[in-house]
Amino acid sequence: MKRLITFWILVMSTTPSFGQHPLLSTIGRELFDSYEEYQLPSITTRRFTQAKMLGWVKPFQDQGVVTTVSLGQSAEGRTIPLLTFGAGATTVLLWSQMHGDEPTATMALMDILNFFSRAPEHIVTTTIRRNLTLRMIPMINPDGAERFQRRTVQMIDMNRDAQRLETPEARILKGARETYAPQFGFNLHDQDPRYTVGNTKKVSAIALLAPAFDESRSDNDGRRQAKHLAATFAAVMSQFIEGHVSKYDDTFESRAFGDNIQKWGTSTLLVESGGWANDREKMFLRKINAVGLLVSLYALANGDYRSTDLSIYEHLPFNTKYLYDIIVRNATFRASETAPELRVDIGITIDERRNDDGVLELVAKVVDIGDLSVYAAFEEIDAGGSAVESTLIKLDEPIPAAYIETLRKR
Ligand SMILES: [Zn+2]
Repeated sequence: MKRLITFWILVMSTTPSFGQHPLLSTIGRELFDSYEEYQLPSITTRRFTQAKMLGWVKPFQDQGVVTTVSLGQSAEGRTIPLLTFGAGATTVLLWSQMHGDEPTATMALMDILNFFSRAPEHIVTTTIRRNLTLRMIPMINPDGAERFQRRTVQMIDMNRDAQRLETPEARILKGARETYAPQFGFNLHDQDPRYTVGNTKKVSAIALLAPAFDESRSDNDGRRQAKHLAATFAAVMSQFIEGHVSKYDDTFESRAFGDNIQKWGTSTLLVESGGWANDREKMFLRKINAVGLLVSLYALANGDYRSTDLSIYEHLPFNTKYLYDIIVRNATFRASETAPELRVDIGITIDERRNDDGVLELVAKVVDIGDLSVYAAFEEIDAGGSAVESTLIKLDEPIPAAYIETLRKR
């Protein structure tokens, strides 16, 4: 970590050229460039269980970086821990993976703990430790994570259980909010990796939202604070993933946690990790999360977030679903023996699926045929006007990987 600290002094002496908060962008750049020094090396895949995660947390507990208390048990009896860092006047609650298959921020939280452990004297660590009390619940839905599924083991989407509180996990989250009365909350999720930023054809790497607390999406002081925090996050990210930050749908959802926690008086920011080309394991987005969260927490701790220009957040385009994994452009297609040939584009998605033997595999599926000029893709294949094998191109059916390979080589 010595290198990191030396680097910090170096960047301080350069002239930053970024917006209102040159310091925040400089720190963001430093944390981005030195990420590999605090990235927790034991996390190599986004599929992991709670037992695995507790193994990562244990050394930080043993070193005294964090203290841990139990918040209660999941439906299947897994103890859900709350990790605490810092002893400042402002309490921040961060919870991740309420959807079991959305683990990116959990990985980032582990990296952040590793940063605190490895760089205890870094200005980011000391400022956060002094001014904030971080209350972290990584993996609030451990039973869902065990199966890598969105819902809890009781088949409930706990993000629609903030009012009824039928599930133990929802009661735990609400209980933590009541017990610790955080001024700020970070609601950490993953979204569909194929959302784009407005109509830009750029994939949304991160979507942010200061959730509404009523149907008319009113503002109050608490929500405005959350918007400042969102603007800070977006501003810092713009130097690494410019044009790849969007705004999440801001419709009020009366059963969701973000909306309710905002309503209950905690300034809440929703962070959704989206997609990135060639990053199915989301390791780049994990890095983006770790850096974004660390800088946002630092800005909260030193108060800089308050003066971030709100329009940075207000002007973020909304998520728009306009992206396929692959588009084969400019192909010739004949739907049947008697039908005439057409010039078409072919949209293909690739999703993970467990096969009958329980082995994870990637399945490519044709989801659209026709004029797909308004859509973007992670990969574009130009068929150059040549005919595609019509028997292999069926809407909403899998397309053999070997055939996609043939198209690539054409
Ligand atoms: Zn989610």
